[in-house]
Amino acid sequence: MDKGCIGRRFAAHSTVFEECRLVSDGERLEIYSFENELTYSCSKAAITIDPKLGSIDRKITLADHSIFETSDSDFVDSLDSKGAFWQRIARLESFGPHLIVLAIACVVGVFAVYRYGLPLLVNAAIAMTPVEAIEFMDSGTLRSLDSLVTSQSKLAPDRKDELQGLFTILVSAQNRAGEGSDKKRYQLLFRNSPRIGPNAFALPGGTIVMTDQLVKRFPDNELLAGVLAHELGHVAHQHSLKQLYRALGMAGLVALIAGDSGPILEDLILEGNAFLLLSFSRQHEVEADAHSVKLMRDSDMNPAGIIKFFEAIEKKYGGSTMPSWMSTHPATEDRINAIKKLLEAQ
Ligand SMILES: [Zn+2]
Repeated sequence: MDKGCIGRRFAAHSTVFEECRLVSDGERLEIYSFENELTYSCSKAAITIDPKLGSIDRKITLADHSIFETSDSDFVDSLDSKGAFWQRIARLESFGPHLIVLAIACVVGVFAVYRYGLPLLVNAAIAMTPVEAIEFMDSGTLRSLDSLVTSQSKLAPDRKDELQGLFTILVSAQNRAGEGSDKKRYQLLFRNSPRIGPNAFALPGGTIVMTDQLVKRFPDNELLAGVLAHELGHVAHQHSLKQLYRALGMAGLVALIAGDSGPILEDLILEGNAFLLLSFSRQHEVEADAHSVKLMRDSDMNPAGIIKFFEAIEKKYGGSTMPSWMSTHPATEDRINAIKKLLEAQ
């Protein structure tokens, strides 16, 4: 017997105890009274060591169910060496389920806030944004565009009129169907921009910009109408505002909704080109494609217009550099499949 510690031994199921000394040679435990008399002995394998709980005295249940208590935690740990692994497992079993449940609850909570909380905040912020502010976003973006990358369209007036005619048909079909806000001022604008290249994009207030380069590259009216109907879908479903507000994050949205909207909205309006840097989510693209198919159908136009566009791009560019419309509207395979399914369903 070499190692030992001072403590108290309680008789089984009793509060009666005696001060004593416990020693161990690694195989057996022996209890000595202060008169150095051996009062008890048992095999170390027969004892149970309670897990450490803060600074509470450690408890060892001996083979006869008497309990040895000591404040010498290090000594108890040294006894525990062989059983340490199993003790740890036992501890994991007793604490584990709570921790795991807590960890799962945290993950689910964060996910729920992101999945449902953020979209709810985004929708609330959109509902609270005055129409005038949204219109300012359109005009602000146009100003940025015109000072940086676009100039007056060089398309022939007849050609512009023809496309404006298609646009008017699409907008009235959309209004008839009650999709999109009637308060929006839908307008189609043409701009020349060798730098942007073939592209079309929608601003939140209902302004749709089409570049001369897109019109010249793809002369097919059905195809261009398909693209316009797709962009109208982005406006009707408020995609750009959703993306922009989502980018503000929870804190920005809470500030916006709480009424601290002045400076935030001002920034958005002044930084109008923020809309040009946004790219839509895959879900938004699929939604806008479905809108295009439906709107073209409602307007008695070929609902395959948007697919014609994808096919024309594929034919013209193959794997080489795609026009910029494709970088902001990536045509994924599932997206094309979703459109084909809609086209088959009459
Ligand atoms: Zn799109």
